[in-house]
Amino acid sequence: MKQKLTLLICFFCLTGSTLFAQTPQKPNFILIVADDLGFADLSLNGSKQIPTPNIDRLAHEGINFTQGYVSAPVCSPSRAGLLTGKHQVSFGYDNNLANNQPGFDPEFLGLPVTQKTIATRLKSLGYVTGLIGKWHLGYEPQFHPLKRGFDEMWGYTGGGHNYFTSKPDGKGYDAPIECNYKTPQDITYITDDKGDECVDFVQRHKNEPFFLYASFNAPHAPMHATEADLEFFKHIKNEKRRKYCAMVYRLDVNVGRIMETVEKEGLTENTLIVFISDNGGPVDSNASINAPLNGQKGILLEGGIRVPFIMNWKGKLAAGKTYDNPVISLDFAATFFELAGGEVTDEIKFDGVNLLPYLSGETKTKPHESMNWRFTVSAAIRDGNWKLIRLPDRLPMLYNLATDISEQNDVSLQNLDRTKVMLKTLGDWDVSQPHPLFLEGAVWKARQVALYDAKYPLIQPE
Ligand code: CA
Repeated sequence: MKQKLTLLICFFCLTGSTLFAQTPQKPNFILIVADDLGFADLSLNGSKQIPTPNIDRLAHEGINFTQGYVSAPVCSPSRAGLLTGKHQVSFGYDNNLANNQPGFDPEFLGLPVTQKTIATRLKSLGYVTGLIGKWHLGYEPQFHPLKRGFDEMWGYTGGGHNYFTSKPDGKGYDAPIECNYKTPQDITYITDDKGDECVDFVQRHKNEPFFLYASFNAPHAPMHATEADLEFFKHIKNEKRRKYCAMVYRLDVNVGRIMETVEKEGLTENTLIVFISDNGGPVDSNASINAPLNGQKGILLEGGIRVPFIMNWKGKLAAGKTYDNPVISLDFAATFFELAGGEVTDEIKFDGVNLLPYLSGETKTKPHESMNWRFTVSAAIRDGNWKLIRLPDRLPMLYNLATDISEQNDVSLQNLDRTKVMLKTLGDWDVSQPHPLFLEGAVWKARQVALYDAKYPLIQPE
């Protein structure tokens, strides 16, 4: 009898292991988002002031995208595109979230409930999903991350946070930390606390497919840094820049902790890690640097929309390569969805594309021949290496990015036919899009136009 039982157990063991081997495990996804990080503020992208060895390693062991864009130059619409894989303008999410404007319905002040996030889609494919950090896609109950596909949340629904404290009844940047899986600990330094939670999430879910949205607020204002990190950068004279460097450095340390955990748990060959900033550096508010890109957060010059953009997947993606065709943050949702076994149907249409066939060389064409942006009073189109920007108070501007990455030479009048064609294409797209669901306020319009005329650092400081 005992022998029979042993044989029976062995039979089930064998059958079980065979079945397991036939079902390839779905890959994990870790989407690490920096907030308001300048293109040039990683040693990877040429910073001489800020060592970022961990983020650099992510790129050196993966792929660094030299022309990686976001779909908006400010936080909230950029994240609406990032998390849906659809151009946010196509569902009226043009603007940054702010207080509701007169005449608008606050019921619609957030990511429309008709739009599914990649968390919702991955959850339906068997994933456990977690948000650590900033949400910024609506405050009303229907917009809450736990109703938008996330199983777990440690963070806050606003657009930023105090790095050192929160208050039980605090509002805005002092809001209490929300957490649905434990009583949240007191904040020490929030970048470290988010790192702790990311490590914990990976460890707790290492045996099931997971999607972690690691939504850091560094180096977004307020400019808060630890004394130890400030000491490390004490040679930097400008106080705001010193704080900024310290904040980016601490972000890098915590990206390293996430990478180490993935490695320690033996998950590297089954985990795709993405690193991106949600928009370009706001040179005026956090002393970031986008060199050699001109412009900053809030505008459609390259410094507002071209960002650090890295993908890392050991054994699946080439290591130490750069990818030079234009790609956009909308591509991540499409990439994750297809890798998770999702089937793109007529009902599920992404504006982004699955990047894997392009990276492997299986698909020879470019992921995107052209890209469009619309943000408050400005709009832009990139077609090949040509980029046209349209503002309300001047003639359209045309740049050739192949020879003028810093957008210093407006060649619209020398290329009038091209300017007309691109203006027409951009205008046709613009008028085909719906009205914005909400506005941010009239002040931003004038401020934004002024930002196009400001001067920006175009070379790296020593
Ligand atoms: Ca941002």
